[in-house]
Amino acid sequence: MSKPIVAIVGRPNVGKSTLFNALAGETISIVKDTPGVTRDRIYADATWLNYSFTLIDTGGIEPESKDVILAQMRDQAQIAIDTADVIIFITDVRQGLVDADSKVADMLRRSGKPVLLVVNKVDSFAKFMPDVYEFYNLGIGDPIPISASSKLGMGDMLDEVVKYFPTEEEEEEENEIPHIAIVGKPNVGKSSIVNKLLGQNRVIVSNVAGTTRDAIDTNVMWNGKEYVFIDTAGLRRKNKIKEELERYSIIRTVTAVERADVVIVVIDAVEGITEQDAKIAGIAHERGKGVIIAVNKWDAVEKDDKTIYKYTNKVREVLAYMPYAEILFISAQTGQRLPKLFETIDMVLENQTLRIQTGVLNEIMTEAIAMQQPPSDKGKRLKLYYMTQVSIKPPTFVIFVNDKELMHFSYTRYLENKIREAFGFRGTSLKFIIRERN
Ligand code: GDP
Ligand code: GDP
Repeated sequence: MSKPIVAIVGRPNVGKSTLFNALAGETISIVKDTPGVTRDRIYADATWLNYSFTLIDTGGIEPESKDVILAQMRDQAQIAIDTADVIIFITDVRQGLVDADSKVADMLRRSGKPVLLVVNKVDSFAKFMPDVYEFYNLGIGDPIPISASSKLGMGDMLDEVVKYFPTEEEEEEENEIPHIAIVGKPNVGKSSIVNKLLGQNRVIVSNVAGTTRDAIDTNVMWNGKEYVFIDTAGLRRKNKIKEELERYSIIRTVTAVERADVVIVVIDAVEGITEQDAKIAGIAHERGKGVIIAVNKWDAVEKDDKTIYKYTNKVREVLAYMPYAEILFISAQTGQRLPKLFETIDMVLENQTLRIQTGVLNEIMTEAIAMQQPPSDKGKRLKLYYMTQVSIKPPTFVIFVNDKELMHFSYTRYLENKIREAFGFRGTSLKFIIRERN
């Protein structure tokens, strides 16, 4: 299920990072063995009550002068409008209302996106509440007073945030058509792939007009089936600052990946796989999406009979944390293996939603235990009682054991391999939750 996206927008020093850290808390989820995944807190997983969402801090680096603040805020606001389900517009009661706030508020209001007006640094309600009322002048609703640093008013604010989340029915409607995100570094050929898909005879396009967010979505028919392609190349930023560009491209990637069922990570065959590719692929891995590595521009590579083999090994080596990913060698220019790309998408979609019966799972587990004894520590041996699949996208299994501490990750990996031997699950990660039961 794709998680709603909440973006934080506001001037420098109003407390965006403080709020972000307060909300993300300990829940920040970065898979430990994913190398290269950014530790910079641009995005994080957060939860409130029964809701989980992806939090995004659109604020980048400090602007050098006053006159670029507004331009930068407009950029931030635009990113939020393009990508978020709910926007938190944060202001500062101590600085009061400033002109840039009003201009950005206008922009947010016109977008029609749900916007919450949050007034930060209200450390004492008695002292600062009178100053909060001034913010009604922005015309974007009731100001919500908070203190991010002392975590005051957070509950009331989050109650308002989750009110705007899509309901389960809306979610299901949106999810009927498979969403495929095309991600990758600049110039690897993302747009060329989408264009080629559109240009192919068997592809009929219908562009759905909708919210701004949908503007970069392309509906594609293939073999009588409909797909939505989310193209992250569609939105190019003209910013000059490198850090900002990087931040924006990470936000774009995260939000596209979040909405996708299957992610196609495009790599430039001529350049070869790089750390930055690994970082981008890591975002899809972290979020448990189906993953296809498309090595593009294959037409431009000089080949002999070992080239594919060597390339595959190299990709596997750099992306060692996702051995399940499918790899395809394609050319957007010649159209080579694009039909295969659709076949692979279908296969990965199927695997993401595959459900294995508990009886069958436990047969596999019993057999696996018989072949390789579970680990023990200080005379105590791990006992595995029972395994069951609790959800899909990604397929998630709960294993009940006598003692969680004894469940070494290598043994979990061993069980994962046994499950994969039986069912494949190609292109999708599998998630394991270990629970104790006496
Ligand atoms: P950003 O530039 O918008 O990300 O702002 P920061 O989160 O870096 O905060 C800017 C400054 O405001 C820092 O010195 C924070 O400690 C301070 N600050 C943030 N939230 C609060 C708050 O609720 N009350 C007070 N008094 N200061 C805060
Ligand atoms: P994006 O930034 O990832 O969207 O990349 P583009 O689609 O704009 O492509 C970047 C450059 O690579 C363009 O000059 C394309 O013509 C070229 N390109 C894209 N796909 C292929 C391909 O399959 N083969 C070759 N030889 N060039 C390609």
